[in-house]
Amino acid sequence: MNGDGSLEWLRREGRIVVVGASLAGLRAAETLREKGFAGSLTLIGDEPHAPYDRPPLSKQVLLGMTTADRTALPRRRDVDATWRLGVPATGLDMAARRVRLADGDEVPYDRLLIATGVRARPWPHEREAELDGVFVLRTRDDCAALARRLAEGPKRVFVIGAGFTGSEIASACRERGLPVTVAERGASPLVGALGGVVGAVAADLQQEHGVDLRCGVMVTALEGDATGRVRAAHLSDGATVETDVVVVSLGATRNTEWLAGSGLGAGPRGIACDAGCRAFDIRGIVTDDIYVAGDVARSPHPLFGYQFLSLEHWGNAVCQAEIAAHNMLSASADRLPHMWVPAFWSSQFGVNIKSVGVPSMGTEIVVSQGSLDSHRFVGVYGYQGRVIGAVSFDHARWLPFYQELIETTAPFPPPFHMVDRRPDGHRPLDADFPDPSVPTHGPTVTLSGYSPADRRMRFTPAR
Ligand SMILES: Cc1cc2nc3c(=O)[nH]c(=O)nc-3n(C[C@H](O)[C@H](O)[C@H](O)COP(=O)(O)OP(=O)(O)OC[C@H]3O[C@@H](n4cnc5c(N)ncnc54)[C@H](O)[C@@H]3O)c2cc1C
Repeated sequence: MNGDGSLEWLRREGRIVVVGASLAGLRAAETLREKGFAGSLTLIGDEPHAPYDRPPLSKQVLLGMTTADRTALPRRRDVDATWRLGVPATGLDMAARRVRLADGDEVPYDRLLIATGVRARPWPHEREAELDGVFVLRTRDDCAALARRLAEGPKRVFVIGAGFTGSEIASACRERGLPVTVAERGASPLVGALGGVVGAVAADLQQEHGVDLRCGVMVTALEGDATGRVRAAHLSDGATVETDVVVVSLGATRNTEWLAGSGLGAGPRGIACDAGCRAFDIRGIVTDDIYVAGDVARSPHPLFGYQFLSLEHWGNAVCQAEIAAHNMLSASADRLPHMWVPAFWSSQFGVNIKSVGVPSMGTEIVVSQGSLDSHRFVGVYGYQGRVIGAVSFDHARWLPFYQELIETTAPFPPPFHMVDRRPDGHRPLDADFPDPSVPTHGPTVTLSGYSPADRRMRFTPAR
């Protein structure tokens, strides 16, 4: 059968299996049907719930504006599919084209999409992690449990890690009037994702809103009482903080263990794929029938020196899923590259934060609009003389302009007169990112390129 003939056959009666039934999995399934795929479609998800949205879990749900079970993702269209929910995939046989499930079943495929995302990195000391009152926040069930405990009015919430999720949790707790301590190993909140200059603004925001912020410290132990309930956190500077709710917010681990031994290029950094979302095997050869999308994927981006980017961004999961679905059904000349410009949003302490590009790749920053002091500004990041990223605090409407600068590889510092002409807008500053080999809470963009001249992130497992 020639290539076109087999594609026709695939579209008509082939078998497509999607592992990971969340944002990327759902959007891919919808796109496959949208594009006329008439064969059998199976979605496998280890969570028992239909696909739901995660961003509200650290925002609206913790604020009590909605509940965790009301976060279902809206459907773009009807998806005629077999849903295998509540059962994890445990293995992959690439030669036989079968996915093994925990219940012993095997599901055959002609095309496979892997969208297994990430999970919260747990507190490394198992017995302390099991104390009553110690939480992580990644899933709907995590969120429901934490929201229930917050509603009981704890005496103090202790957040470990001031990345985006940890900072949003602290913000929601303060808005509910709960006393909050945040402990961060880095020099400031958000430092891994946005650097120290913007991190200092994030620190101001937290303190102005009454957070007891402790930076440059590590949590050395969590202590429980006689009933097994957490009662205190011990810090590396000798301090002890009494608390009855601890939220561990130490970044994420990619869900790739189930692929161990399969021969696919999958590991702690995710699953490497080409710009068309086709997964690499361990020999570095691209597969024809296995695709990857969303938080678990690691793909090269032409705008960022073909570095492999791992993104934990909602918009990336949607776009990559759509591209993967299109490419699964297309002949090689019709395939599309995944060229989405990274973009992320967060809301915390009353401020809307948005970023485009890859700020964490920047070495310098210039404040091009507004001012750091007012907490309303745009910061533009530069790398090797070009604009590589931008972040806005309550200035989001300007970001499309900066996105264009990134897309056109505009020179850095930006070649226009600073709009607000404030003193801090004229001078590029060191963006002040921490040493990437020292783990903080984990950035939402991980670069893992091959050029020795480029900044690298190293995976350092928690002890
Ligand atoms: C609290 C929170 C707040 C967030 N806020 C923002 C925000 O403000 N802005 C933003 O851009 N992004 C935000 N994100 C990130 C965004 O939600 C993710 O980028 C997005 O969910 C990624 O979708 P995904 O489908 O790739 O992965 P996931 O949503 O992680 O889904 C993967 C699914 O696969 C399942 N799975 C894993 N292993 C297996 C297996 N072996 N077998 C079967 N199923 C498996 C998982 O349980 C999960 O259901 C937030 C995330 C969280 C947790």
